[in-house]
Amino acid sequence: MRENNVIKEVMNKILFPRNPKCSVCNRILIHKDDIYCSKCDDKMEWIHSRRCDICGRAMDSDGYSNICENCEKDENYFTAGYSLWSYDKYSKRIIKKIKYGGYERLAMNLGEVLYKNTINLDFLSEVDMVIPTPSDKIRFIKRGYNQAYLIAKGFCDKRTLPLREDIVIKEIATKDQIGLSEKERKANLKGAFSVKNDNDIKGKTILIVDDVLTTSATINEISKVLLEHNANKIYFLTITSKKNIN
Ligand SMILES: [Zn+2]
Ligand SMILES: [Zn+2]
Repeated sequence: MRENNVIKEVMNKILFPRNPKCSVCNRILIHKDDIYCSKCDDKMEWIHSRRCDICGRAMDSDGYSNICENCEKDENYFTAGYSLWSYDKYSKRIIKKIKYGGYERLAMNLGEVLYKNTINLDFLSEVDMVIPTPSDKIRFIKRGYNQAYLIAKGFCDKRTLPLREDIVIKEIATKDQIGLSEKERKANLKGAFSVKNDNDIKGKTILIVDDVLTTSATINEISKVLLEHNANKIYFLTITSKKNIN
């Protein structure tokens, strides 16, 4: 059986030398535009079960509340959010590639996947404008791109919504939020974002797009500054979200 798989893999390399690799397991992809192979398709943890009514992250099916502990604790400035997959060891590999591996095309493709899987999502019909979570200048220069922008671009190209990366600017370089405590996260973000061209967001309903939702501190901070500049309502979409944050 194992031998068969090795032969198959070698054949695929010969037959599809230019095809990208599966973003989860690195096997050669048969279909160029796929994100992952058919084997990994079964492994992805799509959030089909219970979600938090506010931030949309997956919650244990036996819980009694419809709101996650994170949303219960915090004052949320966004109205609602939605993500495709829980942030587990498989989706983490994909996120790592777009965050640190230079996989720009993959980030755009993920935007398309996001579009395809949110076509009937109610709150999207209210959205006037899409804003990606900005990256600071240092990170942008290091990486050469902002992965949240590329996801948003892939999404907006299909959904035909205006995409604006000139509204929320990240003024200061902050530490990566992953791995910080809740208190550190909040301190880390204080004064990090400013709003430009604020006339354009007056009364508008805005959709923030990002790669990962951890505690939602970043998206909440951006939502707060947007509302302070007279935006009407804030929603968000992310590719993955951490389950059961407390
Ligand atoms: Zn795979
Ligand atoms: Zn929540």
